[in-house]
Amino acid sequence: MIKLHDLYFKPFISEKKIATVIQRMVDEVAADLKDEVPVFVGVLNGSFMFVSDFVKKYPKPCEVTFIKLASYEGLKSTEDIQRLIGLTQDLTGRTVVILEDIIDSGKTLEEVHRIFKNENVAELKIATLFYKPEAYKRDFKLHYVGMEIPTKFIVGYGLDFDGLGRDLPEIYQLKTTQHMTNLV
Ligand code: 5GP
Repeated sequence: MIKLHDLYFKPFISEKKIATVIQRMVDEVAADLKDEVPVFVGVLNGSFMFVSDFVKKYPKPCEVTFIKLASYEGLKSTEDIQRLIGLTQDLTGRTVVILEDIIDSGKTLEEVHRIFKNENVAELKIATLFYKPEAYKRDFKLHYVGMEIPTKFIVGYGLDFDGLGRDLPEIYQLKTTQHMTNLV
């Protein structure tokens, strides 16, 4: 159990399990894309570990870039998404695979779609390592999902709580107690 500020997190998904899930996702993407050279677009900050491990396992040539959007402050999903930073490359005619750390309400994903609508990409695919199906409120197709998880706050493996916990190699889940239930 780890303590971040006054909240306790219990071990939830091991490093080994994450690696197995990512390998499965890589195999699915590589099988679908055949000999295309995709552009993998990581959504920072949370996706940095996922993207790193994903592209190291990817068996064929690919390009990697990042964009930055944010929808979270502390524990709450807010409706105001900060502006996009980082998309400088011309993606016309390219197969783009978005690599998301986690999809919760889908608000961030909606913003990603809005941005890529104007990019004239050949194909836009969405891959997310973690997905909270009960929290998802949009209709965008998720092409590759690593793991479905309950609607509880997690940290580790790139995901933070107020800046802490991104460095942890495994995932921890908020240990909900009575006075915290309104937070998650
Ligand atoms: P959405 O826009 O789908 O509601 O949320 C997506 C973003 O919120 C993710 O990219 C991530 O930054 C953050 N997020 C969603 N759920 C969690 C969670 O359980 N833990 C952490 N640390 N961040 C989350």
